[in-house]
Amino acid sequence: MIQLKSAGEIEKMRRAGRIVAEVLERMREWVRPGITTAELNEKAEELIRRRGGIPSFKGYPPGSPHPFPAAICASINEELVHGIPGPRVLKEGDIISIDVGAIYDGYHGDAGITLPVGEVSPEARRLLEVTEGALYAAIAQARAGNRVGDISAAIQNYVESRGYNVVREYTGHGIGRQMHEPPQIPNHGEPGRGPLLWPGMTVAIETMVLAGDYRVRTLPDHWTVVSADGKLTAYFEHTVLIRDGEAEILTPWHMGQGIGE
Ligand code: MG
Repeated sequence: MIQLKSAGEIEKMRRAGRIVAEVLERMREWVRPGITTAELNEKAEELIRRRGGIPSFKGYPPGSPHPFPAAICASINEELVHGIPGPRVLKEGDIISIDVGAIYDGYHGDAGITLPVGEVSPEARRLLEVTEGALYAAIAQARAGNRVGDISAAIQNYVESRGYNVVREYTGHGIGRQMHEPPQIPNHGEPGRGPLLWPGMTVAIETMVLAGDYRVRTLPDHWTVVSADGKLTAYFEHTVLIRDGEAEILTPWHMGQGIGE
């Protein structure tokens, strides 16, 4: 069932979201050629805990034989989402997607960005711009009275009209006391369809874009999702509060750089 949040709950989600946003903003400094994804993960976890948060991805889902082992997902190049941090060293020209989740006082924040490592190709740069642009096109539709399909169609239209594809097998999601709550927010859909959006809903909108075919597969590590054709992918995410009118972004990583400037 879709939960509407009280003012007190929303304030806790703002706190969780600000922790996530701070980690992502720091990633812009930390991500550079020569650093490992394990080092990025250590820095992220340290900052989340210093701010009074709990890394929500670590050990997720509870009871799984293969729980996620880290505080962030770090996915490089053809890796779309859910990459496991480790000894891999970032090199000039890579693109890296960082997904961060934190719990503050029982409430979740979840967001992510894809960053260039040093100088990247014009093709990679454009993929990042389109994937980030699609997120803001989606958020523009995330308002009370619209439906989930309005968000999904905005993502799909924005991405496909620019020559890329959207993921089919993974979605954004409601968020609050749980990291994943109803409704799902697909990257493809039709306007006017799906659950109605109400003031007080909190949702994580994620754009997951592939330069090639939309098909993906999961690596034997049980987590890392890659493009089936090996082509580049990118991902951006915000947790937002649905209101009458414009949504409030609860994970304001864009306040420092990027499209929000
Ligand atoms: Mg998410």
